[in-house]
Amino acid sequence: MRKNDILTIVVPCFNEEEVLPETVKELGGVLVNMMDHGEVSQQSKIMFVDDGSKDKTWQLIQQFEKQYNYITGIKFSKNFGHQNALIAGMTTAVEYSDMIVTIDADLQDDIHAIPKMVKKYHDGFDVVYGVRNNRDTDTAFKRKTAMMFYGLMQKLGVNMVPNSADYRLMSKRAVEHLLDFKEENLFLRGMVPLVGFPSAKVYYARKERFAGESKYPLKKMIKFAADGITSFSTTPIRLIMFLGLVIVFASVIFVGYSIIRKLTGHTVPGWSSLMASIWLLGGIQLICISVIGEYIGKIFKEVKRRPRFIIEEDDYTDKMED
Ligand code: UDP
Ligand code: MG
Repeated sequence: MRKNDILTIVVPCFNEEEVLPETVKELGGVLVNMMDHGEVSQQSKIMFVDDGSKDKTWQLIQQFEKQYNYITGIKFSKNFGHQNALIAGMTTAVEYSDMIVTIDADLQDDIHAIPKMVKKYHDGFDVVYGVRNNRDTDTAFKRKTAMMFYGLMQKLGVNMVPNSADYRLMSKRAVEHLLDFKEENLFLRGMVPLVGFPSAKVYYARKERFAGESKYPLKKMIKFAADGITSFSTTPIRLIMFLGLVIVFASVIFVGYSIIRKLTGHTVPGWSSLMASIWLLGGIQLICISVIGEYIGKIFKEVKRRPRFIIEEDDYTDKMED
């Protein structure tokens, strides 16, 4: 067991000026305690990733950097989103860190799970998932949709740890391999299990947001869920194939039936059935095309190989190089 391993806690922040001082205080307290007890190296850091905030978030981060040696930050040139902020933090920190914890800025996830995660790391686990054991603080709607989402993902064959978000510890080698996944449509909670290595879970109770409001309104949540599905599973395409086969089969029977009707002299005017099939098939085709288009859209984005983020200022590397 190496007690001088460097821990970096990566915290994405988007307009979090209201919570930041409290986050620095509480998270700093936990980190300092671990450093004092020799559980992690004195070189350990909290790294805030300012995801293009419009408020005073970056000024606050820089102020705290001066005040505390263990606080650092990087700043995006604009808003790139939560998942990209996590990747950027890990990309920047991995060179100097032996383990990386990612956690939201709003103190919803119990920070006292971090020492437990570090303990698991010392026990030899490369990935330690923070799993919430209650959802009391979520609205009934969010609980229900989240449950449906996990169920759906399971059915679609995507391996995820239920009730775990982006609060987890990863060892250096696990992060290095995660960064080998070059996809642009990031869905980290689906990607991390694909990395493999020994993993463990730490349970905690999720709390209310400390201050400010959620940066994930319903619209973003739905987009995130849809991204997760289409980035990880081609089952929707197979469902369309199945649907197509069923319809073809049904129309063969229907054609047979109409021929028999005609031969026996029972021909009907046929206007309504004709219209119905035109509309039905047209609609189904449109749905199919749109789903295929969804995947082509993904390919379109992936082949561009655009950078996933652009860092404007990197105080972390500056501090570590000193
Ligand atoms: N966040 C970010 N970029 C964004 C949106 C959110 O970096 O575009 C950060 C945010 O500052 C917070 C974390 O992602 O630290 C989770 O966001 P939030 O707490 O608003 O989501 P919720 O907990 O409501 O799902
Ligand atoms: Mg939150």
